[in-house]
Amino acid sequence: MKLWPAQPGHGSFGVPVAWLVLLLTVGLVSHAVGDSQSAISRYDNYRYPKDDLGAVCHPDATTLKVWAPTAPKVEVALFPNADGQQVVFTAMTNDGNGIWSVTLPGNLAGHYYRYQVTQPGAGMEPATVLQVNDPYAHGTSANSGRTLIYDPGQTNPAGWEQDKFVTLRRNTDAILYEVQVRDFSIHPQSGISHRGQFLGLAEPGTRTPQGEATGLDHLVELGITHVHLLPVNDYAGGDERERAGQYTWYDWGYDPVLFASLEGSYASNPEGTARQGEFKTMVQTLHQHHIGVVLDVVFNHTAQTGDGPFSIFDKLYPGYYYRTDATGRYANATGCGNELASERPMARKFIVDTIKYWLTQYHVDGFRFDLMGILDRETMLEVYRSAKQINPSVIIYGEGWDMERVLPREQMMTQVNVRGTGIAAFNDGIRDNIKGDAGNASARGFVQGGGAPYGGMSRLWLNIKGQSTGRGGDSIPVASPNETINYDSVHDDLCLWDKIQSSVTDQAETVRIQMDKLAAGMVLTSQGVPFLHAGDEFLRTKQLVSNSYNNNDPRVNPINWSLKTSHRDVFNYYQGLILLRKTHPAFRMTDAAAVDQALAFATQGPKNLVAYVIKNHANHDEWKNILVIYNGSQQTIQLPTSGEWQVVANAQRAGITTLQTLKGFVPCEAFSLLIAHGDGDGRF
Ligand code: CA
Repeated sequence: MKLWPAQPGHGSFGVPVAWLVLLLTVGLVSHAVGDSQSAISRYDNYRYPKDDLGAVCHPDATTLKVWAPTAPKVEVALFPNADGQQVVFTAMTNDGNGIWSVTLPGNLAGHYYRYQVTQPGAGMEPATVLQVNDPYAHGTSANSGRTLIYDPGQTNPAGWEQDKFVTLRRNTDAILYEVQVRDFSIHPQSGISHRGQFLGLAEPGTRTPQGEATGLDHLVELGITHVHLLPVNDYAGGDERERAGQYTWYDWGYDPVLFASLEGSYASNPEGTARQGEFKTMVQTLHQHHIGVVLDVVFNHTAQTGDGPFSIFDKLYPGYYYRTDATGRYANATGCGNELASERPMARKFIVDTIKYWLTQYHVDGFRFDLMGILDRETMLEVYRSAKQINPSVIIYGEGWDMERVLPREQMMTQVNVRGTGIAAFNDGIRDNIKGDAGNASARGFVQGGGAPYGGMSRLWLNIKGQSTGRGGDSIPVASPNETINYDSVHDDLCLWDKIQSSVTDQAETVRIQMDKLAAGMVLTSQGVPFLHAGDEFLRTKQLVSNSYNNNDPRVNPINWSLKTSHRDVFNYYQGLILLRKTHPAFRMTDAAAVDQALAFATQGPKNLVAYVIKNHANHDEWKNILVIYNGSQQTIQLPTSGEWQVVANAQRAGITTLQTLKGFVPCEAFSLLIAHGDGDGRF
């Protein structure tokens, strides 16, 4: 996630003074619920042992449960429709620990509700009465309006009971492909009818006017294993009722409101249960094509706090769900005005419960945690354990940036602390060694002839061996290549082609294309888990806009499918590299010690060249020795070797079939790679 300035009305900056007083004097609230400070600390450590928070809808009754321990009174407001004035209030009962519940008779499927919560005022302040959606909401009316009651079983498409998670034995077997739902199908040349919607990822047979496969068929043609979706849970930005061709807004989705409810703008209708059913159809269709679905989840902050319309947690237990700094203000390492206090028992439970819900209800195959370094390690370990129990193939990874300043560093799920957990972290070391500083448009990395700017060649070697390094060039080793995500481009910052264009102005386009292909080759042949940003495979451009989180210019975020025709050669190259990786386990090792044994780097050679051999049928590969050369220089290199080599990838083509056989000297053109295999002794 990119850090951005607070959006008006979408941060905590607009919290009214009276509410701040309430938040800052939360200790005084205790008179309403018990005797003293002890009541507050009891609630702070409270753990609810059951799994029934939220709405449970049966044909004869619906039971609602919500935790609001400081409230002296909670009612449910039941509405027969999404926006009418008609409402019935019913008192809820406190179990003594702040779990308020009520059972409403009758079949309420299709009704809506909100909780009406009374929070005591501090000191002489009057009490506040606020309406709030259920944090455990699984459905909502348009624009996070009212929480929907429905029977989830009724949203299942035909055959859903037979739908299965994709099988993933090791993280390194995954090839992740990051896409925003609207971007993928919204372009008029996509040929997709459900433009901008979940169903736009589930339409077979779509083509551009030039006849290139788009959407689902494109994913299958490219060969990736998992689609990683930018946030699909309900977010605050935009009006969900606008349709394709009318959008007045754009939002990546990093402003979460309802964490277990889908975003309505991606459904054919933001009202009712279209979003639930269509999302399931999307998952089911992708699974039928052996493609997994990874959700980008944003538990590090919420879109709003205090009494704002999109605020949830503060209305239920003021202050509890957020970290505060030494002055009592909400901590803001996220840059979004607040940080969720994941370490608190009921916040942790909320995160774990939500993850379990996406797995069981929607059959998703993995999670990408936004700003994972803001979350505490224990919560992430509990997420991992719970998720693996439901889906043994689940893949979990995140941004392990070291940003948190309230809790001790050793407690946070940062790059350093993923070691040995099975959870992976993005490796910004390899990212910036490949293409140069992501935050500086003109900075060059290895593929533009700029060497390895973060720690030099020895660090780049570590990266290639599946080890993490930081942007400072420091070594942050992981226990296994399963724990590092290799990438050269992501939704944040310039996409790969824009980065190359803005950092290389003195070379022909053909050379810049070579650099792009070399970058992809390094990501897809290095040890670790490869991650691609959608559209990079045909030189997607965002018109040099680096932070496009709310950019509604149709030339910026939408994937322009006509580029697939103009850069078919680049697409073919990415496709060939993916086939090579999927066919050859030597590129997908999982044991750091085995990688150390198998990979031998050439220690002599020209500047800006990396050459190594993966030896002796590594990871049971059918190829005995695999020679890999990355040439980040302007010269064609002639590397002396012993034995005979079958070349399968060079500057022009990549794949698994032999392009030529070489003996004695192996050439590698400027700004390109060469991959070959041979039965000789594997020495240079
Ligand atoms: Ca929304």
